[in-house]
Amino acid sequence: KLDGRGTHRFFEPEMDARMQARRKLELDMRQALARREFQLHYQPQLQRQSGALSGCEALIRWYHPERGLVSPLDFIPLAEEIGLIVPIGEWVIRQACRDAMTWPGHMSVAVNVSPAQFKSDRLVETIISALASSGLPARRLEVEITEGVLLQENERTLQTLHRLRELGVRVSMDDFGTGYSSLSYLRSFPFDKIKIDRSFVKDLTSKPDGEAIIRAIAGLGKSLGTTTVAEGVETSEQMQRIRLEGCTDVQGYLISKPVPNDEILTLVSRARIPA
Ligand code: C2E
Ligand code: MG
Ligand code: MG
Ligand code: MG
Repeated sequence: KLDGRGTHRFFEPEMDARMQARRKLELDMRQALARREFQLHYQPQLQRQSGALSGCEALIRWYHPERGLVSPLDFIPLAEEIGLIVPIGEWVIRQACRDAMTWPGHMSVAVNVSPAQFKSDRLVETIISALASSGLPARRLEVEITEGVLLQENERTLQTLHRLRELGVRVSMDDFGTGYSSLSYLRSFPFDKIKIDRSFVKDLTSKPDGEAIIRAIAGLGKSLGTTTVAEGVETSEQMQRIRLEGCTDVQGYLISKPVPNDEILTLVSRARIPA
């Protein structure tokens, strides 16, 4: 759209460059699967009471031949927009199930499923097939969804959630507290796990009354019988506060950064509750 002649002439080359960069990223992403440029890293979650790792979250990494590591924050939204998230997400689910088979039997693997992927009619079939071919029991697979999935909450969304639940797959609410209507989502479906967004963990030690929200969510989880995970725990001070507020699990750089699968077993053997 033209904002008037002068501005149009001024902005056009810049817009053009951005469109071209996006187009290039899109073309590269279309080839990335076949070229095996994606990898999964895993970030452990620690169960506070036992001090053991309860499972790991799979986080995708794209090693671009020219640009190096591209953050998922920079390509997942585009993949969503052009529909590529469906084949990419399918690769994530299959790879995560295979990798989890190399871990101790009590550990689960969590995969992030974005709205376009959730809406595609292939999701449930993909999960059934990935579980069957890897041999991973359904209860060891966890699907993380964000508000985006529930925004278009309708019969089909709920039906998919219930189908996953019937298979035995766990369902987690990711980035809890950042959405427009986080509380009402808890009413629409009985989530197995609530992941408290890391912005609230940050507030713990940086804001007066910063613990109020975490305390409330941990209490809510307790009443509902739901696991509550504090995300983005980086310091011992935050860890101590979280212990006081009663979250059941923690995830964050203090426990470990996301790592390649071949480092997970070492983390498992060294797991302990940080001081
Ligand atoms: P998320 O699901 O909320 O994942 C947590 C993000 O926080 C990860 O970023 C993780 O590396 C980062 N993180 C964990 N602990 C800490 C900490 O202590 N401090 C800080 N500053 N950050 C921490 P990452 O890997 O860059 O992923 C970003 C987002 O991209 C994810 O947010 C998720 O929404 C999306 N994503 C990642 N992998 C996938 C995937 O396979 N499929 C889909 N659909 N989305 C994915
Ligand atoms: Mg997540
Ligand atoms: Mg999160
Ligand atoms: Mg997030």
